[in-house]
Amino acid sequence: MQFKDQIISYFASRRGDLISDVCRVVRIDSVKGEAKPGAPFGPGPRAALDETLKIAAEMGFEPQNFDGYCGTVDIGSGERQLDILSHLDVVPVMDDWTVTKPFEPVERDGKLYGRGTADDKGPSIAALWAMKCVKDLGIPLTKSARLILGTDEESGSGDIHHYYSMNPEAPMTISPDADYPCIYIEKGGCGGAFGASYDEGEGARVISFTAGTRTNVIPGLSSAVITGVDIMTVAAAMSDTSAKTGVRFEAKKDGDIITLSATGLGAHASLPMDGNNALTGLISLIVSLPLGGGLYDKLKALSELFPHGDWRGKALRIDMEDEAGPLTIALTVLKAGNGVLDGRIDSRVPLCSTEENTKDVIAAALEKNGFEPHIGQHAPHYVPKDHPLVKELMKTYREYTGRDDEPLAIGGGTYVHGLRNGVAFGCTMPGTDNRMHGADENAVIDELVISAEMIAQVIADLCGS
Ligand SMILES: [Zn+2]
Repeated sequence: MQFKDQIISYFASRRGDLISDVCRVVRIDSVKGEAKPGAPFGPGPRAALDETLKIAAEMGFEPQNFDGYCGTVDIGSGERQLDILSHLDVVPVMDDWTVTKPFEPVERDGKLYGRGTADDKGPSIAALWAMKCVKDLGIPLTKSARLILGTDEESGSGDIHHYYSMNPEAPMTISPDADYPCIYIEKGGCGGAFGASYDEGEGARVISFTAGTRTNVIPGLSSAVITGVDIMTVAAAMSDTSAKTGVRFEAKKDGDIITLSATGLGAHASLPMDGNNALTGLISLIVSLPLGGGLYDKLKALSELFPHGDWRGKALRIDMEDEAGPLTIALTVLKAGNGVLDGRIDSRVPLCSTEENTKDVIAAALEKNGFEPHIGQHAPHYVPKDHPLVKELMKTYREYTGRDDEPLAIGGGTYVHGLRNGVAFGCTMPGTDNRMHGADENAVIDELVISAEMIAQVIADLCGS
């Protein structure tokens, strides 16, 4: 591999400089704020963008600022071949950090702690240093590469919508904002809302049901209010259902009213097998009780369409699987009371899924059971394994790390979802837990350095002669 030795020896003496530049940007609180003139996502993201573009200018680049939405740094001349897409905004912090404060980065045991060190300020600065390396080593380029620094990845990607409304995509895009070795499939999505109204009825019945807050999260907690059934019957059903589902239940009695609560395990909706859905668990309990009324009937219908534990959609007959992995589906939100029910579904679909074999099937099943569906479907993101970009990324990864991992197919979406030939590339190594989005977020310094090296190599290979 041409230039590899020079690239590695270049970074051998520049670890400290790279880390100190990461710290300059991590010190800026760039959580999304109120829009101000020139700062469409608030003053924090704008300040982080300004500081990063200042570092680029100090390196001798001529950065551009696109109205405070994105910044860009270019290297090479001629036709653009490669975009590198990263971001400088961060998710909010809480006061549960133990190693340091979120915006006071410290190095400890080979890791750099601070909000954004891993997602995605560290990788952004690693990419910038990769460009400086190519420039300082005088590696000849016949095409150009552009680093695009976004400021709204965490809250809807308004940054790149603005940027791409004015600028074309490069023929290839990498995004150091996920995992190594690289992500070549991001499943499509199917889901949305459904509603129903019902007669509350009288006597033994379900009065209300509450579970879930966000469509893309498997709920770990749920609760319901029932009436007209004796507490001993409820207790027996609780231990029965608990044994079957692993969901834990509690009941509180107040006169003839019983409040049920359920505890499962929360998870991201793209990985329902990692959680234990407290919503479907509580429905399992309720439908085993001698109750009636309109809401009971609705829950019974849902228990048949979305049985607890059926995350592959077998009951709906939409279970399918291919190179992208299995279809997953979860009932994630359900609120009902006073005759009105409102629910949410999240499904992640493989390459073989179509509106006809997925969305239409779910919608028809819901309609048949008296629910009104409002669901949509979007396509998977797929760059084949034998595409020149994926081959280049895998060759570089294997050459620099000595590892033989395979490209990844995931259920979530990354920053490049929908971009032509966009592939997420790093910067987290397999097996590393960097507490992304949580307390004590950190980046392994060796991983940032090797990321800078590999991105330099990719620029040299894809934009060189
Ligand atoms: Zn990110």
